[in-house]
Amino acid sequence: MKVVLLFFGLSFLHCQSSAPPPTVEVANQVDKDSILAIDTLPIFTIKKILPPDYDTTQWTELIRLDSNFMLNLKYATEDNFVKEQLYDCPRCFLDPNAANALLKVQQIFLKQNLTIMLFDCYRPWSVQQALWDIMPNASYVTPPKKGSMHNRGLAVDLTIATLGGDTLEMGTPFDYFGPRGHHTYPNHTAEVQANRDLLKSTMEKYGFRSIRTEWWHYNFRGVKRKTSNMVWECGHSTKQSYQN
Ligand SMILES: [Zn+2]
Repeated sequence: MKVVLLFFGLSFLHCQSSAPPPTVEVANQVDKDSILAIDTLPIFTIKKILPPDYDTTQWTELIRLDSNFMLNLKYATEDNFVKEQLYDCPRCFLDPNAANALLKVQQIFLKQNLTIMLFDCYRPWSVQQALWDIMPNASYVTPPKKGSMHNRGLAVDLTIATLGGDTLEMGTPFDYFGPRGHHTYPNHTAEVQANRDLLKSTMEKYGFRSIRTEWWHYNFRGVKRKTSNMVWECGHSTKQSYQN
């Protein structure tokens, strides 16, 4: 399966080892040169990091918590079930409580040399409306009037990958709508079942709940919040890399 991995090179606010964290100087202002400079630097030698361009009391950009999160945000591409690009650029935001809970899940996986790959995170309400305009079917898309947990920054679509970017076998691709995508499907191989069980049990340990019909979707139940239409800026991410 061709996998497009999107990495950001600015995520150094969290250090997983006991070694002292790398020196990070916070840039006072965003400028094109600093973005290009970061692009050319390998991980852990970054001298400048761009300041957040969003309300950090309301949102956490996941990649700032741990640079090992892999972003494969399908709605920033045409590789999704509606075949249209709905995000101008790939950035993953969540409610801060949900983000910190997901970091705990990530830390469990990292101990096994695995990592979380995200397919979707917070989804602006306007994008929910756009999805509904293309696919006005409540079996596939939550009606905008109701609002999805994604519109609240409280849902993630994800899978488990190796640190090299290979996804674990989960039986179906992301956004496969049918019985094989359900948690209750009984005829998976032992490997697929074990991988799904690993994802589900680890997510549930930290406050996430699955839904019956989508193995990749989890809701964070720790907090309540309203739907949002915050749309992120582009040009703030610093690096994208692609591999098969
Ligand atoms: Zn979802």
